[in-house]
Amino acid sequence: MNLWKEYLHPQTVQEAVEALASATPPVIPIAGGTDLMLDLQQGNHAPVHTLVDLTGIAELHALEIRGEKLFIGAGVPHNRIVESPLAQEHAQSLVEACGLIGGPQVRNSATLGGNVAHALPAADGMIGLLALDAEAEVAAPASRRCVPLQELFLGPGKSALKADEIIVGFTLPLRKPHQASAFNRVMRAQGIALPILNLATWLERDGETIRAARISVGPAGPTPFRARQTEALLAGKIFSPETIAAAQGSLLAEAKFRTSPARATAEYRRELVVVLLKNAMSKAWDRAK
Ligand SMILES: Cc1cc2nc3c(=O)[nH]c(=O)nc-3n(C[C@H](O)[C@H](O)[C@H](O)COP(=O)(O)OP(=O)(O)OC[C@H]3O[C@@H](n4cnc5c(N)ncnc54)[C@H](O)[C@@H]3O)c2cc1C
Repeated sequence: MNLWKEYLHPQTVQEAVEALASATPPVIPIAGGTDLMLDLQQGNHAPVHTLVDLTGIAELHALEIRGEKLFIGAGVPHNRIVESPLAQEHAQSLVEACGLIGGPQVRNSATLGGNVAHALPAADGMIGLLALDAEAEVAAPASRRCVPLQELFLGPGKSALKADEIIVGFTLPLRKPHQASAFNRVMRAQGIALPILNLATWLERDGETIRAARISVGPAGPTPFRARQTEALLAGKIFSPETIAAAQGSLLAEAKFRTSPARATAEYRRELVVVLLKNAMSKAWDRAK
């Protein structure tokens, strides 16, 4: 059985979005295909007529500094992010997240754009990126816009992208002195695809004080979650066991954990998240010295 009827190879972003707007529907972009092919094969995705292959678009493969930001193209595969000195310097939580995704074969073909566009609340690359305050550059046939990452999601597996839009890439602030990030996750033994729980944190330190912090957790709600109340609580506090304990309490109060039959109960996730928070905060704190 054919999973599609037509396969297009655009060479530019403009060609890709025009193909999405005008090719015979249903039409959908494909990057590494590690999520999409399985979903089509297993009947978890509505049938498609046309696939628009994004892998030939050079712009989507850029990984470079642009002004005051690091730009990572949506078509960059996870292994390239792991090996990139620029990403290692400016996006530590993302590098750690991408290094844990699947196995080497998956990391060679699966892209950061696909990880984000699939819109799962616990996608590892997505959570690593969210703590870095990244924005997504989104292209449509007649426009380009930059949106905060969280505006890309409507619900589990539901992205806010329109049918003729693609993610071109992600921009994130360059790391300054005394800033650092870290990522941590718990996965079932021999688990594939998604973790039981993951958490990324970014912080800026001023001596013994946390000047600012960002925390992302998945899955902790229907869309990738930023713990903004806990971030506000941490700002200006001395880094101490008491502060970590207060942050753990705050995170438990604001995150919404659920039981997923294949992975973990909500109670187990509540037990895990306080440990992940402490470990990731401590790692980022030491790195930010
Ligand atoms: C064995 C295995 C293990 C895995 N392990 C993990 C894991 O540990 N952690 C984890 O988070 N994920 C994991 N995954 C899931 C998957 O590999 C990642 O989510 C991957 O990053 C998806 O990228 P892709 O390029 O393959 O996307 P694709 O499958 O090509 O596309 C996924 C979705 O995104 C859309 N899309 C892709 N690129 C764009 C774009 N630029 N703009 C707009 N829409 C786009 C597609 O239309 C599709 O809907 C695993 C998958 C497998 C098969």
